[in-house]
Amino acid sequence: MTDNEHKPVLSRVLEKNAGQTLHSHFFTNVDEIFTREIGPKWTAYRTLWKRAGIDHFIPSFPIHLDLEIAGRCNLKCRMCNRQLNPGYRPNSGLPMELIRRIFDEASWYECYSVLFGMDDETLIEKEKFFTAAGIAKEAGLFDIWLSTNGVLLDEDTSHKAIDRRITRIVISLDAATAKTYRRIRGLDRYEAVLDNIQDFLRLRAAAGSKLPVLRLSFVVLPDNAAEQENFLDLWRDKADAVIFQSCIDVSVDPDALDPAGTESFFKDHNSCPQPFRRIAIDGNGNVYPCCTIMDDKPVLGNIRDSAIHELWNSRFMRRIQQMSLKGTLPFMKNCRRCLLSARGT
Ligand code: SF4
Repeated sequence: MTDNEHKPVLSRVLEKNAGQTLHSHFFTNVDEIFTREIGPKWTAYRTLWKRAGIDHFIPSFPIHLDLEIAGRCNLKCRMCNRQLNPGYRPNSGLPMELIRRIFDEASWYECYSVLFGMDDETLIEKEKFFTAAGIAKEAGLFDIWLSTNGVLLDEDTSHKAIDRRITRIVISLDAATAKTYRRIRGLDRYEAVLDNIQDFLRLRAAAGSKLPVLRLSFVVLPDNAAEQENFLDLWRDKADAVIFQSCIDVSVDPDALDPAGTESFFKDHNSCPQPFRRIAIDGNGNVYPCCTIMDDKPVLGNIRDSAIHELWNSRFMRRIQQMSLKGTLPFMKNCRRCLLSARGT
């Protein structure tokens, strides 16, 4: 292994990305699709989403929930929290009893959206996912996201996702070639995932449906940076969107990175919309102020002991929102690392 390979991923990405722009590319007008398919409540939801993120309006309950229901994964991605964080422990995901409790509480408030899939692979627990998505819909949530690596997205799963009107599927691919895929994601599953995506698109077209909308994601690393254009060309006009993302590397000590440069970066990058919009709940029931969980801090509490409403309106959560308003989020190590990942964008 070379010296360069020993360097934490984020610091190498920061060098590589300096001055480069990462983009989101939409090939269909997804807002038009959602407005047509879901109706006026979609517009109300997106208006609130913007108010919370831009005007810092704090709703009485999170607009969006991120849930870990599988707690395990079937790949070994080199940039994943699971691989890089020595304190990371697999779990068996949120039990159904807690999933029901979460949506029972959410049904009392205006909660619109849920994403299944955090650092885990949701489709390891397919039946649990479809049951949980059904409960979420009954509770009034209508933006239902499935985040997956696509390995287990077989025809039956695609059929169900289309029939049950899952709103969005996000598939992380991170490569435009099988070789790079294996290098980054740890196993030879590139062709299998491509087949699954093609099958999904064929079945969706055959059903005459626009849902679920398909977004493909690509975390930019030194190993795959040169494949961004190819990736875009490959999926242009096939997927609904392609998103390039920066890597957040848990193994990086943000304080060890070029202190003068980071301090000047933080003058303009010191706030975040996420704590005004969402919370994340891991497989053990721990609740976090955003979906970027890199260690167990900051944890707001656990849903076995407290209601989500209580944790969302807690002094701790207010403090994090205030820190964002005052531009002091970089005082928190998780936020320092996360904000730095956008440097160069
Ligand atoms: S870690 Fe901090 S900066 Fe990153 S998404 Fe969460 S709240 Fe925002």
